[in-house]
Amino acid sequence: MPELAEVAWQSKKWNRGLGDVVTEVLCRERARVYRTAVPAEIRRGLEGKKLSGVETKGKQMLFLFEEASLGLHLGMTGKLLVKGRAHEPGRHDHLVIRLTKRSLVFRDVRMFGALRFDPVTAPDWWQALPPEVVSRAFTRKAVAAYLHRRKGSPLKAVLLQQERFPGVGNWMADEILWRCGFHPARRAGTLDEAETEVFWRETKQLCRDALRLIGTNRGRPPATWLFPHRWRRGGTCPREGATLERATIGGRTTAWCAECQKML
Ligand SMILES: [Zn+2]
Repeated sequence: MPELAEVAWQSKKWNRGLGDVVTEVLCRERARVYRTAVPAEIRRGLEGKKLSGVETKGKQMLFLFEEASLGLHLGMTGKLLVKGRAHEPGRHDHLVIRLTKRSLVFRDVRMFGALRFDPVTAPDWWQALPPEVVSRAFTRKAVAAYLHRRKGSPLKAVLLQQERFPGVGNWMADEILWRCGFHPARRAGTLDEAETEVFWRETKQLCRDALRLIGTNRGRPPATWLFPHRWRRGGTCPREGATLERATIGGRTTAWCAECQKML
């Protein structure tokens, strides 16, 4: 499942179409990605319009076409591509937006992705999305209130809640907890004021770091992060070399360091 930074990076690929005019829209009409949109409306709404903006919020993307907007969620396997202006859709190219100079392609093998069309630039669903972690509206107070509301849940499960931590997925949640030094199974209600401050600050910082790293230059997280070590069996903590632990917490495979992240 693409997390915040991958989504930002994917969306930026379509920046190459900014200012260019849509000449034709090709939709693979029966594809499951159209369960939330009507292909004919997309065609009618986009043809002849200019791509005027590219935005993301967590895992959601919004492409502005003058007074209309196309919402896009990548699901598990969705990808955005830029191809030549006469690009013929391949088997998994469910949407091809032909511009005068190039084509914007939405490719999705497993089709958990979804499209939405609205004849306005700020649709209600977009405005109702929670504030981004990197925004000013993501306050320590809001995080403290949320931890209290979910006080019986493991921290790992809390961080995966998109209503408060939009765009944070499995690996980012593990990275945040490792930076904080909190055990992923620790209950949200056990954090004191100072720990809540650490939790809030590290969550914000990790999202910023991830956006800077992956969202802009396709870089990989450095060896000083948990990320490059967590996938391998026998992977070790980059701090002191302890073998990483693994278990299912909050319904997801979780990696942590028993030395850095004590249960208390
Ligand atoms: Zn460690």
